[in-house]
Parts: sequence; C-alpha cells; structure tokens
Amino acid sequence: MRIAELFDGTRPVVSFEFFPPKTERGYSALFRTVEDLKRLDPSFVSVTWGAGGSTRSKTAELVIQIQQEAGITSMAHMTCTGSSRAHIAATLDRLTGAGIENLLALGGDRPEDWELDPEGFEFASELIDFVRPRWDLCIAAAAYPESHPRSPSPQDDLAMTALKVRAGAEVLITQLFFDNADYFDFVRRAREAGVDAPIVPGIMPVVSTASIRRMTALCGAKIPPELGAALEGCGDDEAGTLEVGVEWSTHQCRELLDRGAPGLHFYTLNRSPATRRIHQSVFGG
Ligand code: FAD
Repeated sequence: MRIAELFDGTRPVVSFEFFPPKTERGYSALFRTVEDLKRLDPSFVSVTWGAGGSTRSKTAELVIQIQQEAGITSMAHMTCTGSSRAHIAATLDRLTGAGIENLLALGGDRPEDWELDPEGFEFASELIDFVRPRWDLCIAAAAYPESHPRSPSPQDDLAMTALKVRAGAEVLITQLFFDNADYFDFVRRAREAGVDAPIVPGIMPVVSTASIRRMTALCGAKIPPELGAALEGCGDDEAGTLEVGVEWSTHQCRELLDRGAPGLHFYTLNRSPATRRIHQSVFGG
C-alpha cells in the first residue's frame, strides 16, 4: 500500500519507526517489539538508514522482512549522505522488486569530514528528482517545525520543504518536537506557502534524559523548560523519567489529533513500552 493513500480522513495514520540493530540480540529484541506494536494495528512502519554506512545495507532487507513476515506496510528511509548513485539504484531495485512501495527520501546528517560524493546527491530534493521518474514509489520527506539546523532562516527552511513536495514528496514527516505550538505554526506557514501534503508530527517518547538532551542538541529541537525541569527532577530514576515522558507525549498526541494532525509517527528506538502506553492512552484499547 502506498502510504499517501492512507490519508483519506477515515482514521489517524499511525506509524512506528525502527532502526536496523547492530547485533543478533538486537534483531531478536526488535522482532519482539514489532510483534508487540503490531497489535496496535499501525498504518505503516519505517526503517531508518544508517548514513554513516554501518547499517545502511541492512535497511532494505529489514524493511522487506517486516513487510513480508509481519504483514505491515513498510517504508525504507534512504539518505544522500554516504550513498552513491549506483548503491541507491541497486537498493531501489531490490526494494521495489520485493514489493516495497514507500521511500522516505532524506539528505542525511553530515560527518565533520563530509565531502560531496561526485557519484551521489547533496539534498533530499535531488534524490527525489532521481527516484520519481525511475521507480514506482510513494515518496515521503522530512520537515522541521523548528527549522533544520543548517537552514539560514525559517523561510529558507520552508522553501526547501516546498521544493521537496514540488519534486514529488507526497507525505511529510516531522522531526521530533516537544512544543505543539511549533508544529501548528509550521503547518500554518506551510499551507500559506502552498504545501498541501499531509504533515505528520514525529513523536519521541522520552525514556532517558541524557539521550534526549544529546538528540535535541544534534537536531536543534528545544526542550520546553517545564519538561526539562520535570526530567531533571527525576534524576537517575529511569521509571520516573519514563512516566514523565509518557505523560508529556500523551498530552502532545491528544492535542495534535484534536487540532487536526493527520496522524502520528512514533520514534520508537526499537522499544515498545512507552509507545504502547501512549498509544493506549490516546486511542484506548
Ligand atoms: P534536506 O531536505 O536535503 O535539507 C537539509 C537542509 O539543507 C535544508 O533545511 C536546507 O538548509 C538545506 N537544503 C536543502 N535543499 C537545498 C537546496 N536545494 N539548496 C540549498 N540548500 C538546501 N537521518 C539518517 O541518517 N537516517 C535516517 O533514516 C533518518 N530518518 C529521518 C526521519 C525523519 C522523519 C526525519 C525528520 C529525519 C531523519 N533523519 C535521518 C535525519 C536527517 O537525515 C537529517 O535531519 C538531515 O540533516 C537532513 O535531512 P533532510 O532530508 O531534511 O535534508
């Protein structure tokens, strides 16, 4: 199923994101997570692409395995960074040959010593330009309610998002954020700029204060003072941190859906408990 067709207004489009594990044990744990979250009847799941190269070759096989064995519509992520045109083409042949219909086309983060591969692409929009006429895929792209850290301004960031939609991205999925006002403002500006693709909020349940501080520093998302204080108040108490994270995300999700978000994309970090609890609080069951 092409994920763009899921946005028909009948129900919120809920998706779960996984990453390819590095070890056999990690794979066993991931498949337990997939089985657990499958009971929540997700609209689709997605598998990230290791731009650094260590896991990128695993993305295609994992996405195919989940779609074929778990029977859930799956989407492969793919980044320009670290990928030659030949590798991209071979991967897309493999994916489409195995029945995968969805691709999240990304620029990718750049290591400090990054240099443009003469056989590769620089920006997600170029990857979309390459894919669209050659493979029959529904293409999604990333969007940034708080702007991408490399963007000179919010206006420029939105212009690059619009460029991806004009190139053929049919669905946008956002970077994590913790203040819904940033999402609503971004959607308003996107609509004013003529971007009409569904914009799915990316939800990151906080399970560790140290790791969320690391992630937000990298991606430029802010932690609202109220959330920051609640997390600091938990100290090393992992269970308490999870409670704070679940409560914050639950509130976020309810408000997002109440005010018109077309779905929710959960960054699961390959774990199910926090996502399952938020899902149950929001949707019942
Ligand atoms: P782009 O759309 O290429 O844009 C990045 C920035 O580059 C823009 O904001 C703008 O400043 C500039 N830019 C873009 N186009 C142009 C242009 N034509 N001319 C001039 N400047 C331009 N990373 C991974 O490594 N693997 C993953 O699987 C992965 N999954 C993700 C999933 C989601 C939902 C999101 C939101 C992010 C994900 N990321 C992933 C992170 C992503 O790769 C980084 O945020 C990356 O730095 C930018 O990717 P992009 O697709 O937004 O890039």
